[in-house]
Amino acid sequence: MAKYKRAKKAKSGKVKKIKAAKNTRRTRKISQTRQLRHPKQTLKSTKYIFVTGGMSGLGKGLITSSAAKLLQSMGYNISIIKIDPYVNVDAGTMSPFEHGEVFVTSDGYESDQDLGVYERFLNKNLGKEHNITTGRIYWQVIQKERQGKYLGKTVQIIPHITNEIQDEIKKVAEDENADFCIVEIGGTVGDIESSPFLEAARQLAFHENVKYIHAVFIPESTLKEQKTKIAQHSVQKLREMGIQPNILMTRSETPLNEEARKKLSLFCNVKESNIFSFHYIGEIYRMPLVFYEQDFDKILLKEFGMQEKKANLHEWRRTIEKKSKANKNITIGIVGKYSKLEDSYISIEQALKHCEYNFGININIEWLDAEKIEKGFLLSNLQLDGILVPGGFGARGIAGKIKAIEYARENNIPFLGLCLGFQLAAIEFARNKLGMREANSTEFSKTKNPIIYLLPGQDLNKLGGTMRLGDCECKIRKKSLAHKIYKKVNIAERHRHRYEFNNKYKKRFENAGMLFSGTSDDKYKLGEILELKNQEHPFFLATQYHAEFTSRFEKPSPVFMEFVRACSEGV
Ligand code: GLN
Repeated sequence: MAKYKRAKKAKSGKVKKIKAAKNTRRTRKISQTRQLRHPKQTLKSTKYIFVTGGMSGLGKGLITSSAAKLLQSMGYNISIIKIDPYVNVDAGTMSPFEHGEVFVTSDGYESDQDLGVYERFLNKNLGKEHNITTGRIYWQVIQKERQGKYLGKTVQIIPHITNEIQDEIKKVAEDENADFCIVEIGGTVGDIESSPFLEAARQLAFHENVKYIHAVFIPESTLKEQKTKIAQHSVQKLREMGIQPNILMTRSETPLNEEARKKLSLFCNVKESNIFSFHYIGEIYRMPLVFYEQDFDKILLKEFGMQEKKANLHEWRRTIEKKSKANKNITIGIVGKYSKLEDSYISIEQALKHCEYNFGININIEWLDAEKIEKGFLLSNLQLDGILVPGGFGARGIAGKIKAIEYARENNIPFLGLCLGFQLAAIEFARNKLGMREANSTEFSKTKNPIIYLLPGQDLNKLGGTMRLGDCECKIRKKSLAHKIYKKVNIAERHRHRYEFNNKYKKRFENAGMLFSGTSDDKYKLGEILELKNQEHPFFLATQYHAEFTSRFEKPSPVFMEFVRACSEGV
């Protein structure tokens, strides 16, 4: 009956008119609020988590990845973003001395090493959009201004820069249909350069569901008392910016004691249950388990008003335990020139770690300075089960690296070369096996035998984002060591280089016993993998790409796995 009445009313012209008037009023209202409401709200109810820090070097990357892993293990879809407040557009032109390793994503973006940490934890490919820098945001805003997109407005940090930041974050969350979007803001709260990002993080909570995790440092006094003052000040700084943290992560040498927890809770306005001890445990991959044991997942979901959900870290835990039972030890020498800064080779170090966990062995890394080898340090003084020559730029240390490759080749010691390591393995072979004493890369000197030369189209006056970058497809020769490793003929791996092997010399190399078992799947047929045909040698292989960038805790690089297997077979 009621239904019938309503239908009848709707038929009358009067009702239609009233409805139409109401609709126009509503449309006007919506369009007015749309103008005020900026930037636009996301449709899916993604939950946003910002991770900030009271100083750099606290391990925010690890906190972010561990929290993300824990949520991912509950079946949630996770987006993850790193904000770097520096003015560089990306990390591509930064020296490893300045900033540690430059990580390369599959879409060829050169990023801060944190993206590598996230990928290794989440076993997920990330791209350019997952790294936001001041340089990129300003670049985008300035381009829009030049295109007249701000319609005569004065373009300002607030709202234009802050809106651009929020739009970028929300775009990632929307594109990935994320349940949670975790955003790590690099640097220190209170720094001038990070303030637009913190302002954007504050504003986002006006329309979206946002929580804040703040990492603080808890030093110990000479009397071994945990001091909370620095942490209190950094939370005060955050609150001055309008952000009240929901969760505190305390970085200390030993677990946070009750007295310090109580003090922090009182002065920082954070519930005691929401203060987590992020004390040093030495093993980064154990961290999601440590978070889980402290009920981090339950507290976080509670903060968002969500139901508890079961985390599934069973396999993760099993892999961790495999290593704790390890009783085999091997030593691998890494010959580098940034050897003082282990951060420069972090992806290699981690790829070896992944092998440790998956094989259940201990790998001791011997960091070897190429210049010392050059000056006469003898590798035969060390008990090395394998030698790895990583990537690098410039002529310094080259002679030492070539000596190390010669030593590995001649003494049947497993050898893995990566990028520059590939190029030097070719140079060493040309000099010592083909008798081309002058063989070199044009990166280091002019030579009549340019074994390694500049890629077509490279312009040395333009260095930002201009190398051969990211995933390139490669065809693998059957019945080769490379094929044994990948067990397929089509692969894609990540690159970051300007120079390449000169195919003019390929025949001579192959006739003398070096096989190019992987070549680029394009018209150039660039050498991507080289190996020795010599059956006596347990493992001699180099890749023009960076096999280390795709290695993950749950899925180690097959190249590293086979190399480590060969190293451990001799033990
Ligand atoms: N310097 C070499 C090149 O640009 C190797 C680069 C690298 O090892 N990433 O080709």
